[in-house]
Amino acid sequence: MAEPLFRRLALLGIGLIGSSVARIAMERRDIAAEVVANARSQATLDRVLHLGIADRVELDPAKAVAGADCVMLCAPVGAYAALAEAISPHLAPGAIITDVGSTKVSVIRDVGPLVPAGVHFVPGHPLAGTEYSGPDAGFTTLFQNRWCLLTPPPGTDAEAVAKVRALWERCGAMVDQMDPAHHDRVLAIVSHLPHLLAFTICGTADDLEGESRKEVLQFAATGFRDFTRIAASDPVMWRDIFLNNREALLEMLARFTEDAQAMARAVRWGDAAYIEDKIHRGRRIRKSLIELKQA
Ligand code: NAP
Repeated sequence: MAEPLFRRLALLGIGLIGSSVARIAMERRDIAAEVVANARSQATLDRVLHLGIADRVELDPAKAVAGADCVMLCAPVGAYAALAEAISPHLAPGAIITDVGSTKVSVIRDVGPLVPAGVHFVPGHPLAGTEYSGPDAGFTTLFQNRWCLLTPPPGTDAEAVAKVRALWERCGAMVDQMDPAHHDRVLAIVSHLPHLLAFTICGTADDLEGESRKEVLQFAATGFRDFTRIAASDPVMWRDIFLNNREALLEMLARFTEDAQAMARAVRWGDAAYIEDKIHRGRRIRKSLIELKQA
């Protein structure tokens, strides 16, 4: 077995993502010699102990990070500023602080200024997930062959970046680096806008009057059913993502709205060629995803 990358890994937030990292680290034992889990509630930590997915649990984030050489924020991004403030004075010199948040500009804005001198900050985002949350939702193959994007600010210690990269590679992920603002624009189109559409379409269906609403549920064809899976995601996590990637999300929504209007016009005027072309483009994107093994 390879040497563990870290002596002590502290996971602040132990839901779907944090508990998946914890499960992998506990199983492989070459990521960290000790895994410490922190959550907002004792009930979650009791569950973590019951599941046996951490060596130790700490309800106080300051105690969780004491002596840790790697700290990973795995809570909703809206909680990061308060968490960073709570742990900042307790971070060990030379430690690495990283995260898994779905937005990156806001994370650098909220956490960056609170990182003490001598501590290395390497923001990250694994592009893997499900609609489930909590410590029971995690599993060891979640990151297998999925991308993890790192967005270290310029001048970040190269060795710290290499260690976070190695952590994710040991979790089974493929790792790339990206500028944080570019990350937020890309994620706005591939993830945040699709979620916004799913929440909206489910709301629209839910607003329908009596009988038709019953039929929506009874006869939900695959189209609507796929939207409901996405719409089942955690409300707090997604509220925080929308509010912390505001500009990029609004820009992609404006572009989408224009394109949807163009489609509506094609439907109204019977422009079959336009409609068919758009469907062909959709099929091509799906085929490319399958070829890239990301479907
Ligand atoms: P989750 O399953 O809902 O778990 C969230 C964890 O954070 C829980 O342990 C929770 O503790 C803790 N927490 C919640 N609010 C907190 C607060 N105000 N202060 C401190 N801790 C708090 O969430 P998740 O799906 O793992 O997502 C975690 C992070 O990963 C988010 O930043 C999200 O953007 C990112 N992410 C998610 C996905 C996905 O598909 N789910 C994919 C990639 C990245 P309690 O249980 O005690 O409440």
